[in-house]
Amino acid sequence: SSTWRNVAQGPPVRITEAFKADSFDKKINLGVGAYRDDQGKPYVLPSVRKAEDKVIASRMNKEYAGITGVPEFTKAAAVLAYGKDSSALDRLAITQSISGTGALRIGGAFLARWFPGAKTIYVPQPSWANHAAVFKDSGLTVNKYNYYSKDTLGLNLEMMLGDINAAYPGSIFLFHACAHNPTGVDPTEEQWKKIEAAVKAKGHYAFFDMAYQGFASGDVDKDAFAVRYFVSQGHDICLAQSFAKNMGLYGERVGAFSVVCANQSEKARVDSQIKILVRPMYSNPPIHGARIAAEILNTPELYEQWLGEVKEMADRIITMRALLKENLEKLGSQHDWSHITNQIGMFAYTGLTPEQMDQLAKEHSVYATKDGRISVAGITSENVGRLAEAIFKVKG
Ligand code: PMP
Repeated sequence: SSTWRNVAQGPPVRITEAFKADSFDKKINLGVGAYRDDQGKPYVLPSVRKAEDKVIASRMNKEYAGITGVPEFTKAAAVLAYGKDSSALDRLAITQSISGTGALRIGGAFLARWFPGAKTIYVPQPSWANHAAVFKDSGLTVNKYNYYSKDTLGLNLEMMLGDINAAYPGSIFLFHACAHNPTGVDPTEEQWKKIEAAVKAKGHYAFFDMAYQGFASGDVDKDAFAVRYFVSQGHDICLAQSFAKNMGLYGERVGAFSVVCANQSEKARVDSQIKILVRPMYSNPPIHGARIAAEILNTPELYEQWLGEVKEMADRIITMRALLKENLEKLGSQHDWSHITNQIGMFAYTGLTPEQMDQLAKEHSVYATKDGRISVAGITSENVGRLAEAIFKVKG
């Protein structure tokens, strides 16, 4: 008998199968977590094209990067996240990572090995589905905290603060820095201040996942508010960054993981342990995407251009939210759809039930996840009318 006879069949990971199988030419895919232009096509930022041309023209060699990656990239990534005047910059241990997921994975492994308190990480309910898997595989215990209210379709701050207060002191809390996935619901700046105070009062540790800096509001500084505020209040946070969305570098896998340390000597020790973790995982990261990102971040002209392009992407998404709501109202829907425009980032949490989502797929060829999450990036000026009609038909 065969060696792998005991291997169980896992569940399918993606929802794209049904979309692919549908032959209707006006089918709509709102499941993908990637930006699409108004023609529904994948989008390569012009600033990325320019930077890539420069990288290629410079005929650099293909030697290995160091374990922690391309230094011109990580230095600039730190400035982007923490701000150029941040007190954290010269006591920051940072490494390049395999995009945001890899950053979370290094972070999980670092905390599992070195976090002095309970090795329990609290993630929001709901959260990006991969969070729990990444942290569990890293060796952490994963718990949930309340985040979203099904009644208001918004943040449940009271319950969230209650859970922060009730958690064993010195626990790890994961926060989405901006553009919460899947709900699109972010705390306001005032709410972040309350969250920070509660985290501090219980001696908890904050781990930020910033996968959408700039993509939420269109402004990279505004989207970094929570990260910078926690640092300003004395939290030695850690941070996972991704350049998949804000630079459209999805498949290039460009990211960074950083730990704010108390001082230089702590930074040196943390740095050394990050290297010890990364070396047996993948030795060192890929260089091409990091060179592109570094070129953009370190060339003033390209950087300005990129900021404009990030804003364009964010604005298109904000416009599609407004159009979807408007179309639903025009059709005569009596539901309050203001959550569609109140939410932020790539995703909207519609409040549709799994049955209604099923019906959307089967009867209207509109595909998204069962939890009612739609990718607003998949909406275009052309399909928004048909989408609104489909939602109106299943929900009223
Ligand atoms: N965190 C969150 C909240 C995300 O939504 C994503 C992407 N879907 C990631 C991290 C990581 O993505 P990537 O590995 O492509 O950077």
